[in-house]
Amino acid sequence: MKKAYAFSPPTETLVPVVGSEALFPVRRVYCVGRNYAEHAREMGSDPHREPPFFFSKPRDAIVARGGDIPFPPATTNLQHEVELVVAIGKGGADIPETDALDHVYGYATGIDFTRRDLQTQAREKCHPWELGKGMDFGAPISGIFTLSGGSPARDALIWLKVNGETRQSSRLNQMTWNVAEIINRLSHFFVLAPGDLIFTGTPGGVSTVVRGDVIRCGIDGLPDLTVTLR
Ligand code: MN
Repeated sequence: MKKAYAFSPPTETLVPVVGSEALFPVRRVYCVGRNYAEHAREMGSDPHREPPFFFSKPRDAIVARGGDIPFPPATTNLQHEVELVVAIGKGGADIPETDALDHVYGYATGIDFTRRDLQTQAREKCHPWELGKGMDFGAPISGIFTLSGGSPARDALIWLKVNGETRQSSRLNQMTWNVAEIINRLSHFFVLAPGDLIFTGTPGGVSTVVRGDVIRCGIDGLPDLTVTLR
């Protein structure tokens, strides 16, 4: 029987694969919170007492290759968080750390935009984080580099500049949980599937951005990402 949609189905979320015609179809967007000690401390937590944790963003918050994005409503404290994004190409549950990297399709550079004022209120009231984290256009990412293009070095530089001024600068080896550990832990709670993206947490130096700011970020070995807030 022919499918009869009640209305046009939502558009797919597709991220270009660098150096090919392929498009990576996004299924889910997971994020790791407080995965760099320096950022945990600037958020007022003790990285030795509170391990990283997971939250998620809606699939259609992804903005492939960045560009102009509208400044989100209902915030006076929008902050940038540059992050290594892992693109999953092979699914599974309870994936052992030793196999985890076989499940990676590729990597990208992303920004986990955060309405910090709303997130802080939610933390104080023990409310969920959606209002602070899940807004439209809140997850721009670069094109995806497949593994054949090389993975970022363990100590690759991760950086972000606002209007040319460096705000975040760290190295991937400063992550509390590395990529294999993240995949292992996340796949204990959810069955991972091809198309999942995992934002792996941000280093220290997050700061407030305003309309008109040009945000550039990158990770050595991966494509850069530029976003302008309109
Ligand atoms: Mn983040």
